Amino acid sequence: MNDTQYTKYLFDSVKKISFANPGVIRDTYGKGENLTHDFLIKEANKFTKDIIIDYGGNFLATYPGKLKKKIVIGSHLDSQKHGGNFDGLTGVIMGLVLIKFFFENNIRPKYSISVMGIRGEESCWFPYSYIGSKIAVGKFDKKLLDSLKRSDTKKSLSYHINKSGFNAKKVSKKQIKFDIKNFKFFIEPHIEQGPVLEKKKIPLGIVTGIRGSFRFRDAFCKGEYLHSGATPYDYRKDSVVAVSNLVNEMNIFWKAQLKKNKDLVITFGQFFTDNEEHSFAKSSGLVNFCIDVRSNSKNTLEYTKKNLIKKIKLIEKQTKTKFFLGKETNSEPALMDKKLIKKFQIYSKMISMKFETMASGAGHDASVFANHGIPSLMLFIRNKNGSHNPKEYMSIKNFEKVFKVLKGIIKDNYI
Ligand SMILES: [Zn+2]
Repeated sequence: MNDTQYTKYLFDSVKKISFANPGVIRDTYGKGENLTHDFLIKEANKFTKDIIIDYGGNFLATYPGKLKKKIVIGSHLDSQKHGGNFDGLTGVIMGLVLIKFFFENNIRPKYSISVMGIRGEESCWFPYSYIGSKIAVGKFDKKLLDSLKRSDTKKSLSYHINKSGFNAKKVSKKQIKFDIKNFKFFIEPHIEQGPVLEKKKIPLGIVTGIRGSFRFRDAFCKGEYLHSGATPYDYRKDSVVAVSNLVNEMNIFWKAQLKKNKDLVITFGQFFTDNEEHSFAKSSGLVNFCIDVRSNSKNTLEYTKKNLIKKIKLIEKQTKTKFFLGKETNSEPALMDKKLIKKFQIYSKMISMKFETMASGAGHDASVFANHGIPSLMLFIRNKNGSHNPKEYMSIKNFEKVFKVLKGIIKDNYI
């Protein structure tokens, strides 16, 4: 099989074993993810015997180079429930096709090349992200092994790890099996989950950073339900006006930050009055809302939060309402390696491959490796119809364009 045929064969085979109409199901430490793991290891075995499976069930298949230091190409095996076939899987397949190329052409690259298949990245199975990559680097909090329950089976993470044939006890002791200190670079090829590359018809996205976030999922604003006809302006305590003002203010703030070249996205994804009490003829006494703020800069996140709180205080005064933000959840941003970004930009230009330099809005395993001190990079591949749904679609042609860059850069010892 040539590289194109082999790429198709890998995507089709994994689709078949994890097929669940519509789309695929590769459940974390469940049948779909386990079968995908077994199949890809069987394939990796064709090109190398150096395959290590760690206590959390991640695999690392290494094709030997002249040096022990390795370039690790990888991504996650799991998918969303009835998700698409390309999210995650694409990065692992690109790694496999790469070691196939070196094996069949009998080339010994400078660095060893490893393919990594990572467990449990999606937070829909267990309410937690990056389970596998955190286990791989020995950073998984042991309390979570029993406290995290899978959304469908209600069984614990440790139960599922053990049932899949791995070792939750060793995970709890933070024991690792991979030679992390020899990880020279971590590179994660991944479909783009937003519309930018597809709209611009560009095959490759070179990712500058993975956005971190802060979120208030259960915020609300309390005012007073007052007669719409009988209550004059000065006596209103209207929570709809208050939260609308906040949305507007934050939108203006966002635009101003973009003008200063800051990376930022702000979303109020939910906004609703109380079904039971709201009415056509009353100003509203309650608005529930949520806010999701993301940036690849910690400073920008902090600055935005400060501003959010300052604006809330002002609006509370102006509208005589009270805001309650509730519990905050957040994740750390991760910067991709500047030197790697530059090299990929220069190399792509050299071979006339069109690319876009961009931030990643969604979280990815590469953030765990980057925050662990391993120079990391993500490569986005043009993809249609977004992600986390059965319609996500990456063409093999676009896969091959990005593969051409990755293969060339390693083969020519450009990094
Ligand atoms: Zn993914």
